[in-house]
Amino acid sequence: MTEIGHFVGGKPVGNGHGRFSEIFNPATGEIAGRVALATAAEVDAAVQNAKAAFPGWARKTPVARARILFKFKELLERHRDQLARLIGAEHGKVLGDATGEVTRGIEVVEFACGVPHLLKGEFSENVGTNVDCYSVRQPLGVCAGITPFNFPAMVPMWMFPVAIACGNTFVLKPSERDPSAPLLLAKLLLEAGAPPGVLNVVNGDKEAVDAILSHPDIAAVSFVGSTPIAEYVYRTGTATGKRVQALGGAKNHMVVLPDADMDQATDALMGAAYGSAGERCMAISVAVAVGAAGDRLIEKLAPRVRGLRVGPYTDPDAEMGPLVTQQAYDRVKAYVDLGIREGAKLVVDGRGLKLQGYEKGFFLGGCLFDHVKPEMRIYKEEIFGPVLSVVRTPDYEEALGLVNAHEFGNGTAIFTRDGDAARDFAARVQIGMVGVNVPIPVPVAYHSFGGWKHSLFGDHHMHGSEGVRFYTRLKEVTSRWPKGIRAGAEFVMPTLR
Ligand code: NAD
Repeated sequence: MTEIGHFVGGKPVGNGHGRFSEIFNPATGEIAGRVALATAAEVDAAVQNAKAAFPGWARKTPVARARILFKFKELLERHRDQLARLIGAEHGKVLGDATGEVTRGIEVVEFACGVPHLLKGEFSENVGTNVDCYSVRQPLGVCAGITPFNFPAMVPMWMFPVAIACGNTFVLKPSERDPSAPLLLAKLLLEAGAPPGVLNVVNGDKEAVDAILSHPDIAAVSFVGSTPIAEYVYRTGTATGKRVQALGGAKNHMVVLPDADMDQATDALMGAAYGSAGERCMAISVAVAVGAAGDRLIEKLAPRVRGLRVGPYTDPDAEMGPLVTQQAYDRVKAYVDLGIREGAKLVVDGRGLKLQGYEKGFFLGGCLFDHVKPEMRIYKEEIFGPVLSVVRTPDYEEALGLVNAHEFGNGTAIFTRDGDAARDFAARVQIGMVGVNVPIPVPVAYHSFGGWKHSLFGDHHMHGSEGVRFYTRLKEVTSRWPKGIRAGAEFVMPTLR
């Protein structure tokens, strides 16, 4: 059985006190290893390493940091398959999807390689006579990242490449469900030439998170996970004076207008609802079928959901894998039971799925509900599994109203051939990321990722220019080189002329 520790100061370190969490192979249901859960003292050791590394790293020229990131990108490409396999083994997602995740993470590293350009400030000559003014963006110090199980490589890479490119050092607390990929990332960054302490990984649970939130030497915290924890991290971290961005859960709606190409909409819904077994914060979990779209969509979706190919991550033909843990399986199944009790129509029931040779795996087949109503809990709450709810509305305005009234505001999409409707939707919808005939509008690395409402607490989205702003603070310098003429003391508010 593998035993996984931490990575601090450029070295793997173990666990001195014996608290562990089990890691499962979700396809077989077997325990694959255990991961150490850090104490506050172990988190502090990581922070002290990051703090010691900070001055030297921040003093390096941006181009020197960028060159290390270029090398890191090369190493990531060389280890792409290994990373994907680590993700598949602990998370359960199929290899093609895991590889896609790694690639999206690498794209953030590519973006961060441009940091010399991204850190350029502004300069104004002669704002007063012989007075110049310039602004620079400087790093914050030690930053921390707390990440969820569902993207063990990509979400950490939304954070630390941008943070360290800007001159910060970093402490990453990945999900305790699948810690192996983030540990490999830290080793590769060291191999690429980053000094020890620039990126540290501490594994752990609430105890480690609380130690991060209360640590006086951590300047900023990036969090991605469920909404209750995101809100807790935001409130606790900001109360101790930290800059915090905390991304939470989601319930993403895809509105399908009757004029949409129904085959295209069906393809889009299949991938967006059931890819990664629905364990994506940008998964579509609600299809809002407007008018005549409802019957046509259900007719096309039902056989496709029944025919979903479910299998272990190693099966090249599998379209989706198992859920991450038995606990996740039980939670999602309980939501399906609840939906029936609430009066929704379960058109496809994936609860009975059993895979030969994988009877103990956490596999749930695709589930499809029709006639879901806004007052039902299966509509209001995030299920985070392969369950798609179809809600029917008579018209576009009601569909838009539903999306806007929902607690969450991560992503949404509209499928239509009507340009006016699509434009109106993009303008009026209260959601952070919007797709027009694109079901999962995850922004590319040089744009920024983030939701609205209870899907994000804080002011900044992740990566892109928002990431650079989050991980730097602005300094304005006003300078004059007097030529020996004394103006004397000035007691009025200076106005430069
Ligand atoms: P989670 O909230 O359970 O865990 C996220 C992180 O918080 C982990 O590192 C975990 O160790 C830590 N944590 C868990 N419980 C804690 C507690 N009580 N106190 C302090 N820290 C705690 O989330 P998860 O199950 O790992 O991930 C799935 C969730 O993440 C879903 O809600 C999903 O929508 C969300 N998510 C959001 C985005 C986004 O960009 N908005 C992206 C990916 C996932």
